[in-house]
Amino acid sequence: MGLLTEGSPLSWEETKDLADHVRQHGVVQFINLYKRLRDRQGDVLKWGDEVEYILVKFDHEKKVARVSLRASEVLNILQEKEVKSPQSVKSLWRPEYGAYMIEGTPGKPYGGLLAHFNIVEANMKYRREEVARSLNPGEVVMSVTSFPRLGCRDFTDPPTVPTPESGASRSLFLPDEAIFPGHPRFKTLTRNIRQRRGSKVVINLPIFKDKNTPSPFIENLRALGDDGESSKAALPNHVYMDAMGFGMGCCCLQLTFQACNINEARTLYDQLTPLCPIMLALTAASPLHRGYVTDVDCRWNVISCSVDCRTREERGEVPLKHNKFRIPKSRYDSIDSYLSPQGEKYNDVPLIYDMAIYEQLRDADIDHLLAQHIAHLFIRDSVSLFTEKVDQDDEQDTDHFENIQSTNWQTMRFKPPPPNSPIGWRVEFRPCEVQITDFENAAIVCFVVLLTRAILSYQLNFIIPISKVDENMKRAQKRDAVLQEEFYFRKDITTCVSPPAATSCCHTSDCSDVYTPMTVDQIINGKPNEFPGLIPLINSYLSGMDVDADTHCTIQQYLKLIQRRASGDLQTTASWMRQFIQSHPEYKHDSVVSERINYDLLTQIHRIQTGEISCPELLGTCLQSKTQESIPAAVQKAEAINGECC
Ligand code: ADP
Ligand code: MG
Ligand code: MG
Ligand code: MG
Ligand code: MG
Repeated sequence: MGLLTEGSPLSWEETKDLADHVRQHGVVQFINLYKRLRDRQGDVLKWGDEVEYILVKFDHEKKVARVSLRASEVLNILQEKEVKSPQSVKSLWRPEYGAYMIEGTPGKPYGGLLAHFNIVEANMKYRREEVARSLNPGEVVMSVTSFPRLGCRDFTDPPTVPTPESGASRSLFLPDEAIFPGHPRFKTLTRNIRQRRGSKVVINLPIFKDKNTPSPFIENLRALGDDGESSKAALPNHVYMDAMGFGMGCCCLQLTFQACNINEARTLYDQLTPLCPIMLALTAASPLHRGYVTDVDCRWNVISCSVDCRTREERGEVPLKHNKFRIPKSRYDSIDSYLSPQGEKYNDVPLIYDMAIYEQLRDADIDHLLAQHIAHLFIRDSVSLFTEKVDQDDEQDTDHFENIQSTNWQTMRFKPPPPNSPIGWRVEFRPCEVQITDFENAAIVCFVVLLTRAILSYQLNFIIPISKVDENMKRAQKRDAVLQEEFYFRKDITTCVSPPAATSCCHTSDCSDVYTPMTVDQIINGKPNEFPGLIPLINSYLSGMDVDADTHCTIQQYLKLIQRRASGDLQTTASWMRQFIQSHPEYKHDSVVSERINYDLLTQIHRIQTGEISCPELLGTCLQSKTQESIPAAVQKAEAINGECC
């Protein structure tokens, strides 16, 4: 999403009436775009990260921490430089769902030189410092996946109160003022998702049962103004949440890569798909929601339920009458089909789509796999439409296509080139939770980018049946999944890819030969005589490359962090947070994250992220990268002569 221009959102009724209009034109726009760009070749590796941050306001006298609702003002300051000279800024800033959130990316994407891995962390650090300069006293910017007391009384600065009977979300807990006010998109999405569904969204996270947690754990929601809807939706022994903001108000870490052509993009899309649950488990950072300790470590289900606009018919609770399809998943979830020939026979989940749209795509000479992918995205209705965007030139514009594409929030995103731009076919990797420090975030980003290089160089194959990836997504969110769970993973990843088969093999027995349960440690670090491990493969890839000493050192620090997280030698953010709470003197072992615990946790996190204190449990003792602001000219020249890394 670029710099947002203001627009006039249509009402839900108007948007609903235009659902087919958006779909019809969106499909035509994709077909036109595909015809223009299908043969585009020769793009080079470019890539970039997206980090989402929250603004926190500390009151050090009262010892409370609240989210600061000033993101809109802060963004105006942060975007001044970009408005003046968009080409020369070192960072780009975008709004996010929360009125307390911002998203930062590097000013320009990185390229194929290995030396670029040495400037990622410095750029992240620069971004943090840049935000810090735009803040008021007491305010800080933090990369925390979920604000622990989001939706508790008095969690915002300035104070606000929820309005269960009016407004966009009707939440018992989240006031509409917590939604980004600078652009109508966010409130419109909130209202339309609720209206499309026909009720508020429902999120139920199992509570972490501690020794003094009431059993059963049931909250009095009537006392908060519930008219009965929430009390009915809330499950016993669960932390109940009722608004889009609980999910979209979480922060994540995303990565986008440019491929040399559409086929390489399909390969990367497929090959990274089985990595999504593994990376979710490894980056787990959000055990705390709505002031409670929960029994899950990740945000994924929260965010998936928080934008689940499916009606009761679509969810299969009542027979289909007004809607077309039963839809098994929310529009925010893991992907449902592979896109490359290697993936085809592992598409074992029945894919829902409108046959007419599929045929239209096929008639335009789009192959089966891509046609069913697009047709599946287009089972969704538009949930946000602006007057100015209704009528478009389908030869030139892609807004209707993007409208549906950008509200299918999935683990991976297949991104076609934007119209009239030098940008090629790209793939986005979206599962990771954001980490406390720039060091960790840079480590994750560099690990995933290096993995893509190893995948392409060695023609690695990670593909397993999609149904097994779905199962892994469930496991990945469990408490301490990184150490406690096993994940289905492909046994032999180094064999050359098999030729495409016409029919799915996954209903026969030979497909189950392909994968086996493994721990994250085995997947990342290897299993003697059985599985090489992703980091050893990356190291083998790197050993054939010329790399300067500083970059080498930085990359090794990053890989070590990933290895030690996978082996349990270092804690995940989620497990560290749990331990912090368990040992807090005020914690009553009742699963409650009090104001004081919240304050102490966030001040501690702030000290860690600024480097004021060390945190060996999370980061180890001597992990210091050699990151620097720019690539020294000599290194750049040497690498360019010796060939890029891809
Ligand atoms: P979105 O929010 O739609 O996912 P953003 O524009 O916020 O996309 O971020 C996309 C990321 O892609 C940024 O890190 C940016 O640096 C990076 N990027 C920009 N141009 C390219 C490109 N040509 N190839 C790959 N990545 C790119
Ligand atoms: Mg973005
Ligand atoms: Mg976004
Ligand atoms: Mg974002
Ligand atoms: Mg993104």
